[in-house]
Amino acid sequence: MTRYDAVVVGSGPNGLAAAVTLARAGLAVHVVEGAPTPGGGCRTEELTLPGFRHDVCSAAHPLLALSPFFADPAFDGLRARLVQPEVPFAHPLDGGRAVAAYRSVASTAEALGSDGAAYRRLLGPLVDDLEAVVDAVLAPIRRPPARPWALARFGVAGAGSLEHLARRFDGTPARALLAGAGGHAVRPLSAPLTAGFALLLTAAAHRVGWPVVAGGSSGVADALVDELTRLGGTVETGRWVERLSDLPASTAVLVDVAPTALLRLAGDRLPAGYRRALGRFVPGPGVCKVDWALSGPVPWTAEACRAAGTLHLGGTLREVAAAEADVAAGRLPDRPYCIVVQPGVVDATRAPGDGRTLWAYCHVPNGSDRDVADAVQAQLERFAPGFGDLVLERRSVTAARMADHNPNYVGGDIGGGGNTVRQTLSRPVAAWNPYRVPVPGLFLCSSSAPPGGGVHGMCGVYAARTVLHDLFGGPPPF
Ligand SMILES: Cc1cc2nc3c(=O)[nH]c(=O)nc-3n(C[C@H](O)[C@H](O)[C@H](O)COP(=O)(O)OP(=O)(O)OC[C@H]3O[C@@H](n4cnc5c(N)ncnc54)[C@H](O)[C@@H]3O)c2cc1C
Repeated sequence: MTRYDAVVVGSGPNGLAAAVTLARAGLAVHVVEGAPTPGGGCRTEELTLPGFRHDVCSAAHPLLALSPFFADPAFDGLRARLVQPEVPFAHPLDGGRAVAAYRSVASTAEALGSDGAAYRRLLGPLVDDLEAVVDAVLAPIRRPPARPWALARFGVAGAGSLEHLARRFDGTPARALLAGAGGHAVRPLSAPLTAGFALLLTAAAHRVGWPVVAGGSSGVADALVDELTRLGGTVETGRWVERLSDLPASTAVLVDVAPTALLRLAGDRLPAGYRRALGRFVPGPGVCKVDWALSGPVPWTAEACRAAGTLHLGGTLREVAAAEADVAAGRLPDRPYCIVVQPGVVDATRAPGDGRTLWAYCHVPNGSDRDVADAVQAQLERFAPGFGDLVLERRSVTAARMADHNPNYVGGDIGGGGNTVRQTLSRPVAAWNPYRVPVPGLFLCSSSAPPGGGVHGMCGVYAARTVLHDLFGGPPPF
């Protein structure tokens, strides 16, 4: 039987980024994936009608565009397939109005009228210093920052709540724009760090855009698998791992799984204290995902929305905050805050003829089995009257069913764990190096480790560097 240097369980972007990092160091690497195709959160399938290709999970890729891992020349081909909507994200408001994050700070500020100067003061320096901020926040936040002042500026504005940050602005549009971006934290907008999510994602819109992948997010998985196989690594699909002892022999095992699955896989081999600490790890709220096959483009009333790749639906800051507070309290909001992606604005390959695909999700309490597709569609009708007339087919997946196709989405949590302060600073447990699992040769490389959710691969990179350091004489991982 073949013996590998490293076996990776799970082929999400983090599992594959770990595998590529190890293979680049000359290791013999094998990836075992339970699903029929590799990619985890980067999959594209005909979910509704023939020829309509939908992103099953991730669709918009500001984090990939920011990620130091994907900046490597090996991914030039993938980066060439990142297509940029003219408007990274827009936020419709009642009365046919909308506010948008355009590619430049200047044009965004100009559209904000009297809030423009405050917007320029807040976002301008962050956009200029974005590399330094990314270097710190797409990492385990352990080493001294390369440019402390840049990080301090981000920290002062971003450590607090979105509601606090929004007090810098008087008008509904600027406040709504930030609320839409802050909603990606999947936390109440009164919670600490929600401002940081909004600032990072808005600065990304100005610096690298919010691209989609031409042909679909499965292109990310394809690029990773191509690079891994070029380096001699192998990927096996269709094999769910139940116990670590089922795996081929290897020096290291890296698991791209949720903490609940880590408990199951490693069983009694985990020390009791670590098991208890993992048991305290809390998932975030869930999502209900909805996909449509449409006969044409969404008839948004507001012009800016027609050119946007991503849209945040939910109305004013007050409304978005109320919806997210409901979710945090375990209630389904009547008017949910929804994240919508319309890849067809820049990618004609997703649907036949004049057709379009539309992708959306809204937050719901973890584990909710309620199909809220009608509530999501009502938000679309609110800002794009006549939307329903275009619907050829609709498919939805409740939070309770999200784990059916990927066990990492526990109760529909797509972020690998709640973004509380504790779990942002130390996930999944408090440890200097959280990628190490206290079982010889075992490491965690999923988004339940730092820096958390999203398609950036950096959880995998730091886990792989830890393996190289601990077992193969490599330099300190961070
Ligand atoms: C609906 C939805 C929308 C999203 N939108 C975006 C977005 O627009 N932009 C963005 O950046 N991020 C988005 N995300 C989040 C992003 O997809 C995840 O954060 C990211 O994929 C996490 O990567 P990962 O490698 O840690 O885990 P995953 O991508 O979840 O991959 C884990 C892999 O491990 C496999 N696996 C798990 N257990 C086992 C086992 N026991 N045996 C074998 N295989 C196993 C799974 O099948 C899966 O393939 C979205 C996610 C969802 C679900």
